[in-house]
Amino acid sequence: MIVFKRIAELQEYLAGQRKNGTPIGFIPTMGALHKGHISLVQQAKAEGSVTVCSIFVNPAQFNDKQDFDLYPSTIPDDITLLEQAGCAVLFLPSVQEIYPQGPEKAAAYHFGSLETVFEGAMRPGHFNGVGKVMAILLDIVQPDALYMGSKDYQQCLVVKDLCRQMGLAEQVRFVACPTCREPDGLAMSSRNRRLNESQRALAGIIYQCLVSIQSKFESGSDFAIVQKECLELMAAKGFETEYVSLADADTLAPLAQYEPGRRMVALIATRIGTVRLIDNMLLN
Ligand code: AMP
Repeated sequence: MIVFKRIAELQEYLAGQRKNGTPIGFIPTMGALHKGHISLVQQAKAEGSVTVCSIFVNPAQFNDKQDFDLYPSTIPDDITLLEQAGCAVLFLPSVQEIYPQGPEKAAAYHFGSLETVFEGAMRPGHFNGVGKVMAILLDIVQPDALYMGSKDYQQCLVVKDLCRQMGLAEQVRFVACPTCREPDGLAMSSRNRRLNESQRALAGIIYQCLVSIQSKFESGSDFAIVQKECLELMAAKGFETEYVSLADADTLAPLAQYEPGRRMVALIATRIGTVRLIDNMLLN
């Protein structure tokens, strides 16, 4: 694997690959890699792309300074995992390389109601920060395909919209990859490392709630009752839940009730101790 820290060097390498006609598959990450991230690399490889993974902890998308300060960094282990997966390129830029004038000066994007619901409501400015860094990274890498995880469902919709705003919808194929889970259903996440043993043992409840929301939709239950049950179940285990919600899967418009015939997604965000976890599940 070749590691590039400078934009110019990465671009020179990618220009050579483009000349050979090899499609470029891009996997943006913030590092502390796990099997979920690696599954994106594997997907890109399986589709015959030169795999370009980036690791950049984007200061612009953290509205909580403590969350940014505590964000895990495991670069040597990340490099080993990427090499084992056969990733071709790692782009590892500094903050200065990405934001030479500072994040505030970077081009800003807006995403309408997509940036104000769920994660956007809980983390004001988060998706504007995601938009800033993704616009810069897409401009640098100019990929043929972009691989992102459905684990961050709202982020997938935001980045798809960003591609549309940047006029890249035709050029960049967006691939939303399935969520990799631990055996108890907990969605793999870099933040899981911060769970202590007892918190980790309880965290499978998030997935159980999503499964219950789905199965109760199939059996014709009332969503308000299912939602209350989930909130109580999580509270009993010490979780402080921000939302257990149902939304239109395409627009993320919140739904008060199951609507058969509409594509729906269930979304959960909850905290245990200082660790904030999110997950989601498509219902149909
Ligand atoms: P992050 O490093 O958390 O910004 O994640 C980088 C990419 O990996 C994003 O597209 C995430 O949605 C994706 N990702 C994170 N966790 C998982 C997972 N458990 N399964 C699949 N993809 C994931």
